[in-house]
Amino acid sequence: MTRQADHLATVQRFAQTQLAPAAAGWGQGASPDPALFRAAADLGLFGMELPVDAGGLGFDFAHKAAVCAALAAVDFGFAMSVVNTHNTALRLHRSAPALAARHLPGLLSGQVAACTALTEPGAGTDVAALKTRATQGPDGWVISGQKDWIINARHAGLSIVFAKCGTGDDGAAIGAFLVDLTAPGATRHATEAGFAQESMGTGGFTLDAVALPPEALILPAGTAFRAILSEINGARAYVAAMCCGMLGAAIATVAEHGQHRHSFGRPLMDHQAWRLALAQAQTDLAATQALTDRAVAAITTADPAAQILAAQAKVHAVQTAQHHLPALLHAMGAEGLRPAHGLTRHIAAVQSAALTDGAIAPLLERVARLSWPATPARKD
Ligand SMILES: Cc1cc2nc3c(=O)[nH]c(=O)nc-3n(C[C@H](O)[C@H](O)[C@H](O)COP(=O)(O)OP(=O)(O)OC[C@H]3O[C@@H](n4cnc5c(N)ncnc54)[C@H](O)[C@@H]3O)c2cc1C
Repeated sequence: MTRQADHLATVQRFAQTQLAPAAAGWGQGASPDPALFRAAADLGLFGMELPVDAGGLGFDFAHKAAVCAALAAVDFGFAMSVVNTHNTALRLHRSAPALAARHLPGLLSGQVAACTALTEPGAGTDVAALKTRATQGPDGWVISGQKDWIINARHAGLSIVFAKCGTGDDGAAIGAFLVDLTAPGATRHATEAGFAQESMGTGGFTLDAVALPPEALILPAGTAFRAILSEINGARAYVAAMCCGMLGAAIATVAEHGQHRHSFGRPLMDHQAWRLALAQAQTDLAATQALTDRAVAAITTADPAAQILAAQAKVHAVQTAQHHLPALLHAMGAEGLRPAHGLTRHIAAVQSAALTDGAIAPLLERVARLSWPATPARKD
């Protein structure tokens, strides 16, 4: 076994033996025990893509996507929480060595959670409309604004906050700052949703004239918008991998049920009409997994096709999971509603997956623009 394959097998065991027994409760409002995040840290999950000499595992993007899928097969929220802290550690390592030296010990050990905050009450898809603003003064920056619908924000100690710098008002004015969410002037809240968001820690925060040192600007205006667009391709690909993980887990659960549950004197699996739904889900999963694997490979090798493949993979994986998960629950009968099987949690999670890192319509628009870039402007 390679180091990466060995690590993936360990993560799969961790997910099945430590996360799965607790995850049913997270769908009903219980919060994950912080010890589970420390156990994730012991497996190196907050530093998968960081080099070994920076305290990471030195693995590639493809491995991160596989780990995300293995965690999401049990709980999408836990997977998203882990990967968002991981991504902050990676960003600091790449862009801000002094801040990395200060904050990596807390992030990599699972003691400090982190988030990446673009979305605001008035700006989601239209990122350039964000209103959070940072103004430069003699001692650094002062930042004010509001963020909402941010993974980990309800308990995160650190956030990469995207804000407009100075007086600029377009996408080119957006910079990214590392903000200590426990600093004076920062207030965190939990975001309310119609289904539990506990393991994802979805929340928001208000920044009221929070003072930042000059080095808090980790991506200056003019570079941050570009950085978002490139990083978001990776996020789309691993969200697609997570949808494949959830769907694969659901198929396995339902297939197992079908071997043991009898109807009209035979196991459900022996009824052709019953197993065709399962076979259709398995077939569609194979197709969406193949597309996801292409997107993940393109990102891992920095292939320019990553942009279109990541958008296509996310749309396809989300829609495949949205289509099949309710049908799989139905195939289990009333038993499918029990929290222990995870189907109700996966059905809720895939609605979040549809929105995080780009909703369906803007992704399809991206596919259209990349496919037919020279479409002339209409005259009417
Ligand atoms: C659980 C969860 C976790 C999240 N985590 C984070 C996070 O960690 N960090 C972060 O910054 N954000 C996060 N988000 C926010 C997410 O990125 C936004 O929800 C997403 O960008 C869509 O923005 P919106 O919800 O404001 O919808 P809107 O932008 O208001 O769009 C509403 C609908 O209109 C459609 N639409 C928008 N513009 C167009 C158009 N031009 N043409 C056609 N249709 C259009 C969209 O597809 C969408 O279906 C999270 C969201 C959720 C639900």
